[in-house]
Amino acid sequence: MVTRCRSDEENLALLSARGNRGNDMGMSDEFKRVASEVPLVDVMGGSGRWEISVHDHGMVALVDCMPRLVPEGKTADFAIVQAARVSYGAGTKQVSEDRGLIRYLARHRHTTPFEMVEFKFHCVMPIFIARQWIRHRTANVNEYSARYSVVQDRFYHPSLENVRKQSKTNRQGGSEPMDPMTAQQFLDYLDKCEALYGDYERLIESGVSRELARIGLPVSAYTEWYWKCDLHNVCRFLSLRMDAHAQQEIQDYARAMYALIKPIVPVAAEAFMDYDFESMHLTRLEIEAIKSGKPLATENKRETAEWDEKKKRLGL
Ligand SMILES: Cc1cc2nc3c(=O)[nH]c(=O)nc-3n(C[C@H](O)[C@H](O)[C@H](O)COP(=O)(O)OP(=O)(O)OC[C@H]3O[C@@H](n4cnc5c(N)ncnc54)[C@H](O)[C@@H]3O)c2cc1C
Repeated sequence: MVTRCRSDEENLALLSARGNRGNDMGMSDEFKRVASEVPLVDVMGGSGRWEISVHDHGMVALVDCMPRLVPEGKTADFAIVQAARVSYGAGTKQVSEDRGLIRYLARHRHTTPFEMVEFKFHCVMPIFIARQWIRHRTANVNEYSARYSVVQDRFYHPSLENVRKQSKTNRQGGSEPMDPMTAQQFLDYLDKCEALYGDYERLIESGVSRELARIGLPVSAYTEWYWKCDLHNVCRFLSLRMDAHAQQEIQDYARAMYALIKPIVPVAAEAFMDYDFESMHLTRLEIEAIKSGKPLATENKRETAEWDEKKKRLGL
């Protein structure tokens, strides 16, 4: 659904009807208000926010974006094309069609036009996920302060089926489900950690500062923040965090984020999938191995395993 917005003329007429000519400061008007040549629509269809729940208490909500208003019939992809045309000028005439241009820019890593689109999210996630997320340095972040406010009684508590066994191949990851008895022991251990919340509350009531009382809480406690980032860097985040090597829980958040931005920038989102997320990087050694039909020229076991995975994807 798209919501039509008031034109500049309509806005000015409204201000004038209210006796306000846009100059309450006693200064002369020094800028020209130029009406949009075409009707503008809200890319979020007039919604206050778009929300997706994640896990038991988590959430990713798109609360705003830039451009929010676009010419009728367009999406926020429009801002990428607009920026590219100003920067590449006549050069873009070869790829005159918008979709073709965006896909060309994505393929050739002409990244700055993608920075012209911005997203602001409100996210609620466990602290152990926030620690991974905050490593993405190009975003602007404002987090809930547990020095200023009391941490809420909400903890990430996976279901029995989601308790994962330590992976044998990936030292950083978990893979298959754990046997139910051990999984239950793990959940009992989480219950005990969560029960510490009662002590936390009591100690705050006894006057212990919030900034210290919180240090006994587990990293499964939820935090929240506003996270603003441009499309280029959102895609970097998604590329790393939707990937199967990322922890399952942050993958779930990243996929929710992708679902929220996709309708706003459908062409760029498709190009991201085609040329980044679902694409494959080949090393010089791998190209040589394909050309010669010989094994990969390395004794490094991990590199060989990675090549085996790629060959499987390529059907070689
Ligand atoms: C599966 C996985 C496992 C990980 N394991 C670990 C781990 O064990 N320990 C650990 O500490 N971290 C770990 N990380 C975090 C990882 O090392 C990165 O810090 C994180 O993914 C952020 O990536 P980034 O720097 O590309 O992102 P961003 O900070 O968002 O930066 C985006 C891009 O901007 C540029 N950029 C940003 N800041 C600078 C700068 N100051 N100087 C130059 N260029 C800059 C770079 O090109 C960068 O790629 C892991 C990440 C993943 C996905």
